[in-house]
Amino acid sequence: MPAATRRKPEAADQWAARILLHAHAIAPCPEHGFMRLRFHHAAIDYAHALAASDPLPGKSKAKCVAVLDDFLDGLSDDCPACG
Ligand SMILES: [Zn+2]
Repeated sequence: MPAATRRKPEAADQWAARILLHAHAIAPCPEHGFMRLRFHHAAIDYAHALAASDPLPGKSKAKCVAVLDDFLDGLSDDCPACG
């Protein structure tokens, strides 16, 4: 079977975006779609709890939390296209 027909595992950044969106720790700019930080501590705590219950396959909870925090570090609270 060709490799392209196999479902690829979710990439770490896709997983992080999904968890953080679900927790409302990030939100896309309604006009441009760029993810923005929401600086909401309860939402980040919730994202960490989601990471523990829905982790990246084969990764420890600590590794999953580190992936989330790295993803958050790469974001800003401004949309780069809104200027
Ligand atoms: Zn924007």
